[in-house]
Amino acid sequence: MNAVDGKVALVTGGGRGIGEAIVRALVREGAVVVVSDVLDEPAAALADELGQTFLHHDVTDPVSWRSTVDAVMAAHGRLDVLVNNAGIATSASVRSQELDEWNRVLEVNLTGTFLGIQAAARVMREQGSGSIVNLSSVDGLRGNAALHAYTASKFGVTGITKSTGIELGRFGIRVNSVHPGFIRTAMTAHLDPAAFGIPLARAGTSEDVAEMVVFLASDASGYSTASEFVVDGGITASLPHTTAG
Ligand code: NAP
Repeated sequence: MNAVDGKVALVTGGGRGIGEAIVRALVREGAVVVVSDVLDEPAAALADELGQTFLHHDVTDPVSWRSTVDAVMAAHGRLDVLVNNAGIATSASVRSQELDEWNRVLEVNLTGTFLGIQAAARVMREQGSGSIVNLSSVDGLRGNAALHAYTASKFGVTGITKSTGIELGRFGIRVNSVHPGFIRTAMTAHLDPAAFGIPLARAGTSEDVAEMVVFLASDASGYSTASEFVVDGGITASLPHTTAG
């Protein structure tokens, strides 16, 4: 028996990076996965390779959410797992932060996650079950200078995970957040992990994050909701100057 045998999952931003690893891990563990993204080509190729479905889906658009969830229901009759993975990051100082860019980061990372919870909860309530996994970040647990919009959005994701987890628990819907640290993807390609004082002394992989998502998607995590699950090599627990030797 695999961890998520027979479950129907939707993964947003599933075409590359952490989302791709989540898709691969869920399929390996027995789930039927709908890969959604605005990045059509790699996402469609991934779905094709794995014998799954791709849907073009912009998480900032409520109409796109409705049609995506409706398509999942039409094809599979249920939605057991939603992974709100799509996200963007932009760097700026307080002085140079452009309002448009601020709004865009909040729109994708926080509003996109809220719309996903809303759309999934609509069908999961009817089913009486479901697991929603939201990709926050270590930047949803502590500040990150020069990533103000991203940090604000990820604290928002941490918060809405708790508020919706509390509301939806009595309908059998669990909502949890995952907090990756430094994960080697396109988002972090320009950064050097050695500069981050990571206690496990390496960058994380997308697969490290995907294993946590599989656990939260599965019934093995059945008594966990409205909670934070950190996958960061110990980075939030440490201060660089406390490292001895
Ligand atoms: P990534 O490689 O940039 O992949 C994100 C995917 O989301 C891309 O395919 C992207 O498409 C898509 N996307 C962007 N805007 C979208 C929208 N409006 N609707 C639907 N899809 C959209 O990012 P990643 O590093 O794998 O990160 C995945 C998640 O983990 C994000 O939420 C991120 O904040 C979080 N995270 C990452 C790290 C890290 O170290 N990498 C650490 C902590 C948390 P485009 O390429 O076309 O934009």
